[in-house]
Amino acid sequence: MKKIDIASLVKPNVRSLRAYEAAEIPCRIKLDANESPYAFKSLKPFKTNRYPDPEAKALRKLIAREFKVRYENILHGNGSDELIYYLITTFGGPVLYPVPTFSMYGIIAQALGEKKIEIPLDKEFDLNTGEFLKIIRQKKPKLIFLSSPNNPTGNCFSKGRIEKMVQATKGLIVIDEAYKAFSGGGSFVPLLKKNKNLIILKTLSKIGLAGLRVGFMLAHSGIIKEVNKVRLPFNLNSISQSMAAEALRSKSQMRKNVKSILIERQRLFQGMEEMNGVKPYPSDANFILFKVKDPDKIYRGLMKRGVLVRNMKGIIKGCLRVTVGMPRENTVFLKALKHLLYDL
Ligand code: PMP
Repeated sequence: MKKIDIASLVKPNVRSLRAYEAAEIPCRIKLDANESPYAFKSLKPFKTNRYPDPEAKALRKLIAREFKVRYENILHGNGSDELIYYLITTFGGPVLYPVPTFSMYGIIAQALGEKKIEIPLDKEFDLNTGEFLKIIRQKKPKLIFLSSPNNPTGNCFSKGRIEKMVQATKGLIVIDEAYKAFSGGGSFVPLLKKNKNLIILKTLSKIGLAGLRVGFMLAHSGIIKEVNKVRLPFNLNSISQSMAAEALRSKSQMRKNVKSILIERQRLFQGMEEMNGVKPYPSDANFILFKVKDPDKIYRGLMKRGVLVRNMKGIIKGCLRVTVGMPRENTVFLKALKHLLYDL
């Protein structure tokens, strides 16, 4: 295993911190935490008057089993957004990432006053390895964020290129697998054992639980320990902890939904490919990026017909991004797009 000194990567103000500890002392009468003794009866299964488990133990145990990692290798977040925030708070910059990609890497780096370095993707939307390796050598980034599958381009980066960067950097590399469920490509989780500088970000948001705000990161226990110092004690509420655990236990519905999205993604892609004046890009995610001649006109026209997509103008020239919906929603989208393109 490559030698990575995690402590030396941590910002000095965080290095000297100690994680907040909420002591859990079994008792008959609990009068220690300034909670109300009265739970909301309408929310009966949840003890709404008590603070949630700060360690999210039950959920983390399930995640450990699901991903075949140890409990100490998991940290929970209020969505993976929060974990991105915590990672940059803990280690600081420079923060390196390709563009276009998920905007929060840059927004959070800037909000926290850390230096950000952006490297454009190549023509195939893959990583420009030469440029990355040069910047890694020159600027020694503390954190590299790679979303694979990437948002908004939809593709996975090539595994070999990612591995090259994992080898090259003396900082930490975060593989954001938010859209992994929709991709045939392998996960990077098995590489955690051999690479102490690897962090995997996961979320339940894309598989039907966005409203619960549950994300988690998998990494070496030394990294988890440091990031845990900046985590707010009760960041994941008890309803989300409980519902997320329930969802992880009953996976058949999740699998069925993902399968339907994969079938519909194929139908959307084919439908767009058959239209003149649209170029859809192959996707490993639950959305498709597509190029048209006049994206503003198409965006407005779709909107008039009740279909909201994302206008990526200013990010990728001429492009819009459509999320795969239910079959009837996708049919409405395809029909509306055809009408707009052919002025029907
Ligand atoms: N990573 C990527 C690549 C995303 O696209 C998103 C959501 N748009 C997130 C992370 C954030 O997900 P969460 O809902 O878990 O905060």
